[in-house]
Amino acid sequence: MPGPDVVHVRGDAVRPERVDVAIIGGGIVGASIALELADRGLSVALCEKGGIGHEQSSRNWGWVRAGDRDPRELPLMVHALTLWDAMHQRTGRDVGFTRSGITFAIHSEEEAAHLERWRSAAEEAGVTSRMLSAATYAKAFTHAPKTDFGAMVTPLDGRAEPQKAAPAIAEAARAKGAAILTRCAVRGVETAAGRVSAVVTEHGPIACDAAVIAGGAWSKLLCRQQNQRFPQLNIMNSVLRTHPLDGGPEGALWTQDFAFRKRQDGGYTIANGSANIVDLVPDSLRYGLYFTHLLRTNWSLMQLRVSGQFWAEVPGVWKQPLDRPGMFEKTRVLDPKPSEALTKGLLDKLGEHWPLFAQAQIAQTWAGYIDMTPDEIPVISSIEAVPGLFLSSGFSGHGFGIAPGAGVLMADLITGETPIVDPTAFRFSRFRDGSELELNGGRRAPIDH
Ligand SMILES: Cc1cc2nc3c(=O)[nH]c(=O)nc-3n(C[C@H](O)[C@H](O)[C@H](O)COP(=O)(O)OP(=O)(O)OC[C@H]3O[C@@H](n4cnc5c(N)ncnc54)[C@H](O)[C@@H]3O)c2cc1C
Repeated sequence: MPGPDVVHVRGDAVRPERVDVAIIGGGIVGASIALELADRGLSVALCEKGGIGHEQSSRNWGWVRAGDRDPRELPLMVHALTLWDAMHQRTGRDVGFTRSGITFAIHSEEEAAHLERWRSAAEEAGVTSRMLSAATYAKAFTHAPKTDFGAMVTPLDGRAEPQKAAPAIAEAARAKGAAILTRCAVRGVETAAGRVSAVVTEHGPIACDAAVIAGGAWSKLLCRQQNQRFPQLNIMNSVLRTHPLDGGPEGALWTQDFAFRKRQDGGYTIANGSANIVDLVPDSLRYGLYFTHLLRTNWSLMQLRVSGQFWAEVPGVWKQPLDRPGMFEKTRVLDPKPSEALTKGLLDKLGEHWPLFAQAQIAQTWAGYIDMTPDEIPVISSIEAVPGLFLSSGFSGHGFGIAPGAGVLMADLITGETPIVDPTAFRFSRFRDGSELELNGGRRAPIDH
């Protein structure tokens, strides 16, 4: 497979004819929902067009953070952190989770004020972060570029291995009875008597009472097939990993120029902390207005371009026939080419100041699409207009860490149990019920971590 080396998950040979819930998308979000539902005794099919975890879920930085998270997500994230603590035991697999802390360098008075406000509000949600003076920060990260404004550290934030996590969760779901179907694209959802009755896969239909769209960067196109508008913007971030390095920091660090975290194999995953590429696609016109604030505030850091992705998404403009192969089968794995300027150029620059990284060798580079919503928090919700249809997507560059919690919340919504947190902020209807879309403190947030 292109991109990072993901732990292989074998697909089941037999496709069930009927399940309680069919899940579309085998990233960490779909896998977490499958595990929760299977744990509660429901029959589940997890349908993945490529391999488990081959898109965003294996391409991310591996940060599991509450620090500077949108306050609306914090209660769910606090729960997710406790699920990460137990992940090894629950899945029987080592996903490399460790609470090694995450530090954000601060570059302006405005950022300092935002983070101080955020820190005191977060304390109420049970998250403890500390502001570091410029001198304390310089001592903790001796070779990081100096800043007059210090930093914020959240010591109980952590890291995990993206190439292991979604596969481990999917295998744990299978052990509880879920069907794990790989190379099994879902072309669309069928309804009967006004509610979801089946998902139609490339291998035939699976009858179901409920279907969950957890398609990451593809969710807007899946929603369109059901005539539902889901404003989503996909932003490409380029990443590199180094060969093992001795003596580097354990904790992850974000600065405006770079971000890194130590890997279980002793290397580092490194990326530009802010710069990204936006591929213009047919939906850029349809949903562009929703994202003007994001493009405006990050303008100098966004490169807009037209690439092959434009043509890959053209068929999604129309409703696709369910009886022949379509766009989901055509692109088994979204594997954009990483930007060399944002990988090799970045490491060269980092090495100029930091002796550890001057001797680093690149082991691999890759890129991934981050699926943004206009307010940068996900949808975890039913889609009211189509009874039986649910959506868990739009995690806006920070879904890896929160995914286990999102799995619990979606399982609560499907089974009608009391939701683990108030789901109002994550409702699908917010994009069309006249609600004002808020951002985390109005701050220009770094998009991917
Ligand atoms: C470079 C980068 C860095 C990031 N860093 C972090 C980080 O440090 N911490 C953090 O918390 N988050 C981070 N994120 C975000 C995080 O990776 C995502 O929010 C998370 O992985 C989303 O999971 P998902 O399951 O929704 O999507 P995905 O992992 O993209 O999975 C969706 C799956 O659905 C499948 N699919 C789509 N359509 C169909 C269909 N029709 N039929 C069947 N299958 C289908 C796809 O093939 C795909 O495998 C980062 C993302 C990127 C790209």
